[in-house]
Amino acid sequence: MRTPAAFEPAGKPPRSRDRFALRFWAIRKSAAMERLYDRLERTLVFLAPVFTAIGWERLERPVAGIEKMVKGALFDCRMCGQCALSSTGMSCPMNCPKGLRNGPCGGVRANGNCEVYADMPCVWVKAYEGSRTMAAGEAINLPQPAVDHRLKGRSSWLAVARAKSGYDARMEAARLAAQNAAKAASKSASKPGGAKA
Ligand code: SF4
Repeated sequence: MRTPAAFEPAGKPPRSRDRFALRFWAIRKSAAMERLYDRLERTLVFLAPVFTAIGWERLERPVAGIEKMVKGALFDCRMCGQCALSSTGMSCPMNCPKGLRNGPCGGVRANGNCEVYADMPCVWVKAYEGSRTMAAGEAINLPQPAVDHRLKGRSSWLAVARAKSGYDARMEAARLAAQNAAKAASKSASKPGGAKA
């Protein structure tokens, strides 16, 4: 049986039921996955200056391709571009057929299965189970922001490296400085006796 999720980027076909096993294995190994991801994240942040030199946009496609392959196999990743796995017990919330990012709906069955797909365990029941063995498991209680669909298909790994290396903050500061300089220039040009074209 094909099991569609609410979030189906182009080129990402719904998984068949027999693929649940790998996803659930990764959730059972959530503590090991968390340690593995921490190492990967530290490496990516360390390499941020190299990525800046190469160009983040140039890296987007190849890195997103690798991310899709690895996380697609392990977590049934839907490439939402704003990964929440570290906060959801390594259970990808985008596999919820309703696309819920902040806990289960009210329809979870008595056996812990999904309201929509009776033969599939609820991704949020699995998320809670996975979070119990993780060092940062309590992050499951933090609210997740609404999904930004503009990020669909983009690499979460690169996004985290950009944010945690301070690259995003530096770019934002530079953007604001340029904006303020432009405002100051236009103000002084509009004053009597100001700069003339
Ligand atoms: S939360 Fe998003 S990026 Fe993370 S595994 Fe799920 S679809 Fe992929």
